Amino acid sequence: MLDRATALAMTPADRMPREIAPGVYWIGDCLLQRHKGRVYHGYNAAFLVAGENASGLVETGHPKDFPVIERHLNELFARGVPPIQYLFVTHQETPHCGGLGRVLKTYPDAILCGDVSDYHLAFPQYEHRMRWMKEGDAIDLGGRALQVVEPVIRDLRTTWWAFDTKERVLFPGDGFAYSHYHEDGHCGLVAEEAVSLDLPDVSSTFADLALFWTKFADMNVYCDRLDHLIARLGVKTIAPTHGLPITDVAATVPKVQQGLKEAALRPESGTNEKITAGAAAATPA
Ligand SMILES: [Zn+2]
Ligand SMILES: [Zn+2]
Repeated sequence: MLDRATALAMTPADRMPREIAPGVYWIGDCLLQRHKGRVYHGYNAAFLVAGENASGLVETGHPKDFPVIERHLNELFARGVPPIQYLFVTHQETPHCGGLGRVLKTYPDAILCGDVSDYHLAFPQYEHRMRWMKEGDAIDLGGRALQVVEPVIRDLRTTWWAFDTKERVLFPGDGFAYSHYHEDGHCGLVAEEAVSLDLPDVSSTFADLALFWTKFADMNVYCDRLDHLIARLGVKTIAPTHGLPITDVAATVPKVQQGLKEAALRPESGTNEKITAGAAAATPA
C-alpha cells in the first residue's frame, strides 16, 4: 500500500495499471466533479483481462482518458500480456464506451462484444467487428473466459455485466458505483485500503446523482438479488467502472448496499452544483 504523502504526490493515472486479481489489470483515470461544496473523484475505469492467448478489454474509459488507457495498455503489452482480441462494454453510455471508436481503430483485431445496439450507426465502418452476446454467452481468452451475466443494478436496459471465470471477478458497470476523495489519497486504492472512505455515504450520493430509478424501487429486492448473484457465481473480486475495486466481498458489499438503501429513502437532490432560486434572482441578466 502507498503511504499518504507518496500517494498525493502522484497523479491518479500514474498508479495504474494495477493488477487487482491475477491477470486482471485496472487501468484508466479519475474524473473530478463538484458536489455539495466538495470535490469528488469518480473512476471511469477499464479493465484488461489477460488470458493465455488473448486479452479482453472491459469498458473503454471516458473519452478524455483514451491517451491514458492507451499508455497503460502499451505498458501491459510490453510486459508480455497478450493482444486485445475482444472489447466488452457494459452499455451505451459515454463513461463506459466513449473510447470505443478509438479502441477499434487502434486494435484492428479487436471484436466488440455485448449488447451492440446502435454502435453500427456511429461506426458503420466497424459493423463487421460487432458481435451480439446475451446472458450465459462467453468469450474464450485461453485458460479463462469472460461470461455475460445478469446485470442486477443497471443504468440502461441494454446493460450486461461480465464475469471472469478463472479468478471469479465480476465487472458490474454501474453497480457498486461510488466516488472517492483525492485529498484523502484514495485514488488507485482498492475499497478496503481506502479506510477513511465512508462507503455508505458515497454510494448513496452516487445513486442520488446517477441512478434516479433507485428512488422508485425497493432496493432491498435488488440487494437480495445481488447477494444471490454473488453467491451463485462465487465472486471473489468486484471491478466496478466507477467505484474502487472490492477485494473483500463479504465485508464491503453490505456497506455499498446500505448506501443504495439509504439513497432510495431520500428525495432526489438533482445533478451537480446548481444556483439556488434566490441567488439566480440576484444575478444580473
Ligand atoms: Zn456509468
Ligand atoms: Zn481519484
